[in-house]
Amino acid sequence: MSGPFIPKLVYFEPQALEYPLGRELKEKFEKMGIEIRYTTSHNQVRDLPGDNDFQKYRMAKSTLVVGVRKTLKFDTSKPSAEYAIPFATGCMGHCHYCYLQTTMGSKPYVRTYVNVEEILDVADQYIAERAPEITRFEAACTSDIVGIDHLTHTLKHAIEHFGQTELGRLRFVTKFHHVDHLLDANHNGHTRFRFSINADYVIKNFEPGTSALVDRIEAAGKVARAGYPLGFIVAPIYLHDGWEEGYRHMFERLDAELPADARADITFEFIQHRFTKPAKKVILKNYPKTKLELDESVRRVKWGKYGIHKYIYQKDQEEEIKERLEEYMHEFFPEAKFEYFT
Ligand code: SF4
Repeated sequence: MSGPFIPKLVYFEPQALEYPLGRELKEKFEKMGIEIRYTTSHNQVRDLPGDNDFQKYRMAKSTLVVGVRKTLKFDTSKPSAEYAIPFATGCMGHCHYCYLQTTMGSKPYVRTYVNVEEILDVADQYIAERAPEITRFEAACTSDIVGIDHLTHTLKHAIEHFGQTELGRLRFVTKFHHVDHLLDANHNGHTRFRFSINADYVIKNFEPGTSALVDRIEAAGKVARAGYPLGFIVAPIYLHDGWEEGYRHMFERLDAELPADARADITFEFIQHRFTKPAKKVILKNYPKTKLELDESVRRVKWGKYGIHKYIYQKDQEEEIKERLEEYMHEFFPEAKFEYFT
C-alpha cells in the first residue's frame, strides 16, 4: 500500500455531529464523494455490504465509523504504559497474525472518536492522580492510529496536548508511513514514535494493506529528524528460510537511514511469533490461504493468562534468535535499549 487510507464507506453516529471534528469529517467525506450512512451506535453497525463473512470482513476493514467515545475509563496498558488512550479502534491493515482479529471479533470496522477534548480531559485527570510520577499513555493498543490520522489529525492534537503537560507522555506504534502532518507538531519530546518493522519476507507475505518497509524506514528517519524519541517494534520475529539474512538486511537499512543524533534514545522491542488456538481459528477463517506457520506440534507451550496458552518457538530456536538479534544490535545500534518478549 502506498497511498493513505481512504474508506469505501463511512458511518456517523448522529451525536458525533455535535462535535466540530464530527462536522468537519462529514464535510470532508461528502466532498470526497464517499457514501455516508448513519448508525445509532458505533458498537452496532449491522448492515455492512457483503454476501458472506469473508466479504463482510473485507468491507468492514474499509469502513470508517465516526462516533463518540462513551467509556471514558481507560484500560491499563502494562508494562510499556500506564493507560491505553482510546482515540480509535480497529485497523484497515490486513496483517494475518493481527490480534485484533480475536479481540474485535464481529466488529472489525475502523472507529474514530470525535470527543477528543473529553478524552484528553480524562487523561489529564489520570496524570493529576499520579503526580509527581510520569504517566504514559499508549494510543495504539486497539488500532493503528497513524493509519487514519491524515483524515482526523486527532493524534497531532494529542501529541501537542501531551507536549504541554509536565508529567504526561504519549506513545504509539505504526506500520504506516503517512507521517508528514505530524512532523511539525510541538511534541516537546513527550511522544515516543514507534514503527513496527520486520524482515521483507514477513511484510510481503503477512502484512497486506500496510506500508512497505522502505517507506516505514524513510518515515522513521523523518520522525527522528523532527526530534521525536524513536522506537521500533519487530513483531512477530518469525522463522523462515533466510531469516538471519532477512533481519540483518532490515538492520542495515535502518542503519543507513537514521541520523547519528537520534541513536542514543532509540528503543527496540522484539516479540517472537506465537499464537493461541482461538487465534489460529480466526486467522484461518479470515485468511484461508495464509502461509503463516500455525502448527502446534512443532511449538512449545507457554501458559498464558486466563488459561489460554500460547504456542511459542522451541527453546533452541529461541536461543538462536536471541543470539542473532543481540549480534545485530551490537553491530548496528550498540547504544540502543532492547527487550525480547516470548
Ligand atoms: S497494522 Fe497493526 S493493527 Fe493493523 S492489521 Fe496490522 S498488526 Fe493489526
